[in-house]
Amino acid sequence: MSTISHDDIAEVRSRANILEVVSEHVTMKRSGTSYMGRCPFHEEKSASFSVVPDKGFFHCFGCHAKGDVYAFLMKIKNMDFPTAVRELAHKYGVQLVETAEQREEYDKRTHMLMLYQQASQYYIRLMQDPAQGAVARDYLEKRGIPEEIIERFKIGYAGPTWDGLLNYLTSTTKVAPATLEEAGLVRRKHETNSFYDLFRNRLMIPICDDRGQVIAFGGRTLGNDDAKYVNSPESAIYIKNRQLYAFNLAKESIKAKDAVIVVEGYFDAITPHQFGFTNTVATCGTALSEAQARSLVRYTESKRVYLAFDADAAGASAVERGAHMLQQVADGVGIELRVLRIPGAKDPDECLRSEGGPEAFAAAIENAPLLIEYQLDQALDECDIGSHVGKIDAARKIIPILSQIKNSVERGEYIRQLSMKVGVREEELLSDVSQYRKDNRIGVNAPGGAPTRQRASQRGPVKVGHVEAEQQLLALYFTSREDYDRTAAALEHEYFLTPVHQYIKECIEGIGTDFNTVEDLQFKLMDRLAPQFEASAAFVEVIERVDEMRKMKMPIDVLLFQCKKRLLTEKVNRILANLKALLNAADNETDLLALQSRISKLNMLNRTTTSLETLEELDEFKRNIESAMAA
Ligand SMILES: [Zn+2]
Repeated sequence: MSTISHDDIAEVRSRANILEVVSEHVTMKRSGTSYMGRCPFHEEKSASFSVVPDKGFFHCFGCHAKGDVYAFLMKIKNMDFPTAVRELAHKYGVQLVETAEQREEYDKRTHMLMLYQQASQYYIRLMQDPAQGAVARDYLEKRGIPEEIIERFKIGYAGPTWDGLLNYLTSTTKVAPATLEEAGLVRRKHETNSFYDLFRNRLMIPICDDRGQVIAFGGRTLGNDDAKYVNSPESAIYIKNRQLYAFNLAKESIKAKDAVIVVEGYFDAITPHQFGFTNTVATCGTALSEAQARSLVRYTESKRVYLAFDADAAGASAVERGAHMLQQVADGVGIELRVLRIPGAKDPDECLRSEGGPEAFAAAIENAPLLIEYQLDQALDECDIGSHVGKIDAARKIIPILSQIKNSVERGEYIRQLSMKVGVREEELLSDVSQYRKDNRIGVNAPGGAPTRQRASQRGPVKVGHVEAEQQLLALYFTSREDYDRTAAALEHEYFLTPVHQYIKECIEGIGTDFNTVEDLQFKLMDRLAPQFEASAAFVEVIERVDEMRKMKMPIDVLLFQCKKRLLTEKVNRILANLKALLNAADNETDLLALQSRISKLNMLNRTTTSLETLEELDEFKRNIESAMAA
């Protein structure tokens, strides 16, 4: 969470012109009070990306990306919020007030990045040195890696000496050896004050962050070292399970191809890039973490992920571990997980370098089965379904897999197919799967706002009635300074069904009346919402409705009444739906009668809504419902 003050965020925003910032990435043309250009976040031929400088936001009508100047920078440069503020502060000459500790931490990171950058250059120069680098270049030549790829991946060489990098960095940058130790580039000899290089006689593969800055190294031995690979330790700039190797080089291609290929090792990623499969990234030996999985799907519209792990048993289990994580992250987002079955070879590197390899690799992508099909095949392969015992065994193995399928229609279809394949009765398999789901509480819906939130974030142009009503109600805070007080009073006890709208409302209330104009209020709110991407985007839709509400030229009470009524209708419908669900589940006479009585009371009240005409009547109606529910 950011600790930069609202004042600083506001100061930077007031100096940073969103049009100027966007124009560094997109060519914008004037169109009335806004500017249009081709969206940098999705492929398009016509311009549907707009910037409204006066209001300080951007909005793409194609992919629905939207937000303020900070959101734009966070999205296009893949930064976190504090970094985006610092970058703009630096550009527009604003001195941020941060605590000494924060400043120190930031400076430390910047310094460390500089050291890694220098180290990377040192290793590259050594590789290019005709005499010293020969051993590394020979190795790469034998592996079939051309000059162009060596450059693209900034591969370097660490010589066999104990202090090459240490001497180079201490003399060029005057850095203390202890700082290099902290950065993870050198080590200290046990309880002494002398230091030595961590990487010796190794091929140096830099690991970069999303912006291409070197943050760690993987070093592959060029001698007979027991450790085939040595990796940089974690540091202030490198957290292992957050990084995906080659992501910085792959992200454009992931976007363009709308798919991502995930492999295990450095060379399993480098080789596909060499053969044109530039949307490949590597996990570098660990199972996929949640943070990695999130990065993966951020750049794909279709959320198609190909897992290409080793074909051996360890690889197969890595597929399942990675898949489990991805599936968890993808819950409801609709991720499409496929498994690359690499023919006749152990890993992607070996496959691509063999005769006809690139074609075989492309075909493997083309024919990659869905993860679920892959898992079912694996399970069936292990059983002899010709025998009676084999059938039972097979059914036992596929039940947990089938149980994980969320969509019931899809699940039913798989059950139908599998029952034929294995030779068991469909109804039997169906009932076993249902029992398994019940026993393991799979598919039990958690109560609360999660599904609504999801729908809100994926929202297209078609609005659910209450969502639109909430946006309009929020917009009413911003139509004029005079109407603000009336709106604030009318909404004081209202709660919104869409969590992000409720959050925005609470932030507005948090600002209080400490503002002069509604524009002033709008920017104050934007400052508060800026660190949260989703809230910032949702607020853009609210701002866009402000003019719409003004143009209606209706008294504020009428507008408030109409929108509040729509929201109330939705709330009553939800209560009714809940009561009906309870009624269906009721198992005793007393509950049954109580629920029936509530439902009929509510239905009766509900029929009177058409006669409501004023805000006061509406509020009274609301109180009646509440007491009917409490009774
Ligand atoms: Zn777009």
